[in-house]
Amino acid sequence: MRILLSVFLFCLFVPAAFCQNRADSLANRYKNYIAKYLDKENALSGYYSVDRDGISIFQSPNSKANNNVEYKIFWTELEQTKLLFGNLSTEDLLSLLKEKKENDLFSLPIETSKGSLTSSTSPQARSLKNMRIAIDPGHTAGTIEEARVEKKFIDIKADAATGLKADVQLIEGQLNLATALLLKEELERMGAIVMLTRTLPGQTAFGVSFKQWMQTSFKRAVDSLFIINEITNDDKQFLLTKADEKEIFRKLFSSLDTKERSRKMNAFKPNLSIIIHYNVDEKNTEWKKPSSKNFNMAFVGGSFMKNELEKEIDRFEFLRLMLSDDIRNSLNFSSYMLKSFVAELNVPIAKEKNADYLHEYCLSTEKEGVYCRNLTLTRLVHGTIVYGETLYQDNIEELFELAKHEVLINDIETSKRVKQVAAAYFNGILRFSGIIK
Ligand SMILES: [Zn+2]
Repeated sequence: MRILLSVFLFCLFVPAAFCQNRADSLANRYKNYIAKYLDKENALSGYYSVDRDGISIFQSPNSKANNNVEYKIFWTELEQTKLLFGNLSTEDLLSLLKEKKENDLFSLPIETSKGSLTSSTSPQARSLKNMRIAIDPGHTAGTIEEARVEKKFIDIKADAATGLKADVQLIEGQLNLATALLLKEELERMGAIVMLTRTLPGQTAFGVSFKQWMQTSFKRAVDSLFIINEITNDDKQFLLTKADEKEIFRKLFSSLDTKERSRKMNAFKPNLSIIIHYNVDEKNTEWKKPSSKNFNMAFVGGSFMKNELEKEIDRFEFLRLMLSDDIRNSLNFSSYMLKSFVAELNVPIAKEKNADYLHEYCLSTEKEGVYCRNLTLTRLVHGTIVYGETLYQDNIEELFELAKHEVLINDIETSKRVKQVAAAYFNGILRFSGIIK
């Protein structure tokens, strides 16, 4: 007993001489966590190691073979490092980690910025007053022409083949924006402070339309990406001389726009982040006819695939998702959202077998309908998030419901169905916050 007590006290008061039992249990815990949420194909061990000393990150499997560590977090530094993830910007923490390499973090002077980069909200907040909520209305299009460029639209003709009695057009960017604006209105009524990454039809995260961005920023963007080796000379020539609008949108603009969304959301320092999308049946090629399927699902970070740790920033986010509570908090938040989607929309939760991408790219979690998936925004947006994919737009019934013009929000005509979706998000937040059951 005396020996046990001594060991306990030793572990408690001498963190530098870290207790090996504790080190082993931490190593096991993190290995399990990585297998459960992060390393989808069990193919990334060339980029990290978890051992009795702590967690090491490597630039490549080759670096690992040569024991050339990019940076290492010792178990004795774990709590301090977790705190830094909540207090430093990505740039500051990344440069600190690179400078640190295998040194003890505590030996470096650490200046934390004012306020927290992210903060998780306890489900028992019971009020939305002053809660900071960031909302990203997915995509950009406000017209069918813009939607054709980003390929996020449904245009089904009435004929014998489709079985429709009237033509139907849907623009996902517009559905997402209307939902976000309706949700913002409700949240602000409850005292929340809400930021939208874009607020107008056709507007991108840069505050202008894609067409305006093409005129003012396209060439400069290509040049700067070439200078920082993000694109090759061939890519540059293709983009500047051969690519059409659609190709520029999909090969270049979409990723810049998405990164700008994540930058805005992180800069806002939200308590909660909500990314709004409407889904489609992936098997319904080109969405030229209606589908009978209809499901709800949500994504959170994790589920990195092989080759998805080649970039420095991605290894950093991998470590953040490993060390922070972001996945756990997001799973919890998203599960409240899923319950709300089902209750308010009367559409079932998607199981893994319901879509190929759910088993090919995602990891199922303990929360039904919430999947880890390494999307740009689930990876780059810090803190507690939900990436919502409510109902299938191409579903035979949803099509007509979504296309109706029954509700006006900021000069946008939308449907009662969209208002129900906004209400589902709103009630999900209220349920998560303990305001309603
Ligand atoms: Zn979408």
